[in-house]
Amino acid sequence: MSDSRVREALREFVAERDWAQFHSPENLAKSVAIEAAELLECFQWSGDHDVARVRDELADVLTYCHLLADKLGLDIDQIVLDKLDKTRSKYPVETARGSSEKHDRLPD
Ligand SMILES: [Mg+2]
Repeated sequence: MSDSRVREALREFVAERDWAQFHSPENLAKSVAIEAAELLECFQWSGDHDVARVRDELADVLTYCHLLADKLGLDIDQIVLDKLDKTRSKYPVETARGSSEKHDRLPD
């Protein structure tokens, strides 16, 4: 389902460098978190941010997400859609609209 251009480009990039040997699921998951921290760093001291830096760090996060999904044989778009279905049922529009409450604190 997902656009294979990103997956193919990443596979080629990794293969050219023989980096797959370093891409265990554990290492890729750690890399997602490390890059997420770098993304947060863009906003560390102020709400102002350098869009170019945010763009690069967001790309790094997404790159590792794609690599991890590929490593685990998961379709990245499908897992997002599947999770959205679960989240949709936890947060029905009737009770969640306009609210930032966690699902277990929403009115019945
Ligand atoms: Mg980075």
